Amino acid sequence: MAADKYQDIRDAIRDLCAQFPSEYFRQIDEARGYPEAFVDALTQAGWLAALIPQEYGGSGLGLTEASVIMEEINRAGGNSGACHGQMYNMGTLLRHGSEQQKRAWLPKIASGELRLQSMAVTEPTTGTDTTQLKTTAVRRADRYVVNGQKVWISRVQHSDLMILLARTTPLSEVTKKSEGMSIFLVDLHQAIGQGMTVRPIANMVNHETNELFFDNLEIPAENLIGEEGKGFRYILDGLNAERTLIAAECIGDGYWFIDKVSKYVNERMVFGRPIGQNQGVQFPITRAWINLSAANLMRFEACELFDASKPCGAQANMAKLLAADASWEAANACLQFHGGFGFANEYDVERKFRETRLYQVAPISTNLILSYVAEHVLGLPRSF
Ligand SMILES: Cc1cc2nc3c(=O)[nH]c(=O)nc-3n(C[C@H](O)[C@H](O)[C@H](O)COP(=O)(O)OP(=O)(O)OC[C@H]3O[C@@H](n4cnc5c(N)ncnc54)[C@H](O)[C@@H]3O)c2cc1C
Repeated sequence: MAADKYQDIRDAIRDLCAQFPSEYFRQIDEARGYPEAFVDALTQAGWLAALIPQEYGGSGLGLTEASVIMEEINRAGGNSGACHGQMYNMGTLLRHGSEQQKRAWLPKIASGELRLQSMAVTEPTTGTDTTQLKTTAVRRADRYVVNGQKVWISRVQHSDLMILLARTTPLSEVTKKSEGMSIFLVDLHQAIGQGMTVRPIANMVNHETNELFFDNLEIPAENLIGEEGKGFRYILDGLNAERTLIAAECIGDGYWFIDKVSKYVNERMVFGRPIGQNQGVQFPITRAWINLSAANLMRFEACELFDASKPCGAQANMAKLLAADASWEAANACLQFHGGFGFANEYDVERKFRETRLYQVAPISTNLILSYVAEHVLGLPRSF
């Protein structure tokens, strides 16, 4: 691909990633391990603090630059899912935390002394219908007491802090169902074993994710972020950045698949010619490339709007859907045209195939994006 104005960032991430070749990520995947050395290297180089303003110790870059970082990690064969939370979860604290909270936490998050890798929203009985969540936080003097359960909460075992969304006013007592929820910064070292239990979920991707159980977990009242009752809106405020960064990761995956399969079909000889000479092989790869290129434009449009502080909900959601679809299409073509070898671990195709499949479902399912665009962009009737 031609150089763009982010080439310096691209080159720096490529250099860093070159120290962690495919074998590294393959071995971590096979061992269901965590890429600690890779995440440490990214942290020490300051890349995960890209979105933290300089006054709090970060590099104060825009979402565009941050998205290039994520894209390049995935394009190099890695998986940003191990650490993307550290880049965007702090946004809630940055936008809605008090000055005191920001001064206390952000510099340590920026330096990597503390990891804020986890955000606990999803619950087993309510799923995407977040306003119905059942976890409660009840104020008792200078503390909140939390009871309930979360599911699919990622990176808890590799984090020091976690943002928690819980209901502070019963649903029956609020006028709008989106009111009455609050967010808290949970110190995981204080919480685990003292009201909070973590149960890892074995899953298809090597994604460290967990069930969480809260049994009278006490959180100091000073760890409430922003105003009590407004937590759901605060979470929504962070979603555009998250969606756009995930879109960039999918784009990185898509490039990885297309580079990989293009090289392979040029070299693999069957029936006395490279398989890539067959249009039946060329066209699915080319179609995926075209869709990926279109998704990339939408991703940069979302980034540009976000960085200009303009509304970007539609673009962020559309970028996520287009990029997740394009990377999945590229993944399918890559697997298909590697034939049997696509299923062998040593080619890394099956690993990346599993990793990119996640983004059809999490952090938001494709259907829910369609629903958002139908209602908020096209003005179609609200369906739920
Ligand atoms: C590996 C992994 C990591 C995750 N990490 C986190 C995390 O760190 N923090 C966190 O809070 N959550 C996390 N999640 C949860 C993730 O955000 C949810 O799985 C996702 O939002 C879908 O919610 P659900 O699983 O409850 O599916 P459900 O809400 O049960 O929906 C199931 C499917 O039904 C369809 N559907 C549901 N409602 C509608 C509708 N109204 N119209 C059309 N279709 C609909 C969708 O296709 C959806 O995929 C993670 C999930 C996974 C798998």
